[in-house]
Amino acid sequence: AAKRLEGKTVLITGASSGIGRSTALEFARTNPNGNLRLIVTARRTDSLEELAAQIRKETNDGVKVLPVKLDVSKADEIRGFVSGLPEEWRDIHVLVNNAGLVKGVAKAPEIDEEDMNIVFTTNVTGLINMTQAILPIFQKRPNGGQGDIINIGSIAGREPYPGGSIYCASKAAVRSFTESLRKELIATRIRVIEIDPGQVETEFSVVRFYGDKAKADAVYAGCDPLTPDDIAEVVVFAATRRENVVVAESLLYPNHQA
Ligand code: NDP
Repeated sequence: AAKRLEGKTVLITGASSGIGRSTALEFARTNPNGNLRLIVTARRTDSLEELAAQIRKETNDGVKVLPVKLDVSKADEIRGFVSGLPEEWRDIHVLVNNAGLVKGVAKAPEIDEEDMNIVFTTNVTGLINMTQAILPIFQKRPNGGQGDIINIGSIAGREPYPGGSIYCASKAAVRSFTESLRKELIATRIRVIEIDPGQVETEFSVVRFYGDKAKADAVYAGCDPLTPDDIAEVVVFAATRRENVVVAESLLYPNHQA
């Protein structure tokens, strides 16, 4: 299955930490000598440079890595993104729409407008704009096109919880968008895939609590959450199936999570 990544270019959003970072490493480790190209994007370029150096070292430069600063909540940055890539990096085969976040915990009357806008412009508009930017590359390939769009949703999009309405709504929107797109692209070789994690220990909770590490740690105390590698393995699994196999939806729960 690893051979199916031969010569491919994979673009990952939100690759500076957590699931996105693990996904980049997992792709590289799955095919370290197959002319794989990884475009890793996020806002924190120092973390992207570190990740790129690690992958180049681990694979003896077998995997090529291009770190690019990209804020998916900025439509204008996305618009210029593909044309700004060096020519040899534009032939993208796999898009992993992973960038996402949650801000605060608030019941509906207390929702902060700024937090709400950040969550929607990142998780929803950002994911849709990225898809629109990359899809034409896929559609130019023969027989209706070829490529993989892998969206990271969340169990929260299916199981809304009190105080999480904005985040849950954003992930429900990701799910609806993904399903519509899959149906629009049926009978092409473009696969649309959604992976919905339950609780994963990453920087996610640090971001949710505006950098308060103690509050973030408390979220994971006394339970055994998933690791970012657990999710990365499923992303790469989906991308390395035979072309006719669409791993349309995957729900990943840690054992303790109802
Ligand atoms: P992290 O906080 O570790 O990673 C989030 C990534 O998204 C970072 O690389 C961050 O990079 C990036 N990001 C945030 N905002 C933007 C932006 N505007 N533009 C570009 N990149 C951005 O959390 P996770 O790895 O856990 O989160 C990854 C995905 O998984 C998210 O979509 C999240 O909703 C989803 N998820 C997480 C779960 C969990 O329990 N952790 C559960 C279910 C789903 P930077 O700050 O450098 O831009």
